Amino acid sequence: MKVVAIDGPCGSGKGTIASILSKKYNLVNIDTGATYRCVALASLRNHLSLNDTEEIIKLSKEIDIKIDLNNKVYLNGEDVTDEIRSKAVTEIVSPISSIVEVRKNMVDLQRRMANNYDVVMEGRDITTVVFPDAQYKFYLDASLEERVARRIKQNEEKGIDMSYDEVLENIKFRDYNDMHKEVGSLKRTAEQVYIDSTNLSIDEVVLEFVKVIEGDLNES
Ligand code: C5P
Repeated sequence: MKVVAIDGPCGSGKGTIASILSKKYNLVNIDTGATYRCVALASLRNHLSLNDTEEIIKLSKEIDIKIDLNNKVYLNGEDVTDEIRSKAVTEIVSPISSIVEVRKNMVDLQRRMANNYDVVMEGRDITTVVFPDAQYKFYLDASLEERVARRIKQNEEKGIDMSYDEVLENIKFRDYNDMHKEVGSLKRTAEQVYIDSTNLSIDEVVLEFVKVIEGDLNES
């Protein structure tokens, strides 16, 4: 089983690159953020607040989350691909993913999703917790300004209405929260290949990944 693991903050381009690599190398693409977003959406639908930790943990065990080969996301059989990107979900997903038991349940699920497949998996703790022994480990980064600009463009394309300040504050909040979790926090390690995409085109970023993956393939 081959695993390409990509960590990095929101807006760094992980989703775009994972999608391109999955087609290029015939890998199953697993967006782990989508699993936490499903727990957040289910919590909202059950009218839970962030203080209802026990109920959220219970829910994270009970709900059925599936991601198909076209990256459509299903919560209890319902297609929630668009809904999990909503402002309401985006606002609470980071604190929800800080709950240690929720993380445990999602990490188990993510490993099961990857079972027996060659995968590209992106998130915050893939290179450190989910697949620390992955063959290829990357940290994809970009400046805060660039990530905000990308997210605003993406929101416009998806019809999500968030002001510049709302996007900026949400990204700053999630960056801080994601880097200061008790378990599974986003961090850089010596084993990751670090790629800063701030001034690179998508093709240029892909090339950086390809150099590592194919360089490594040539060596083996
Ligand atoms: O990648 P995305 O922005 O969709 O992830 C949503 C949230 O889920 C992140 O802000 C982060 O808090 C959480 N997450 C996580 N671990 C992962 C992937 C996402 O904690 N592996």
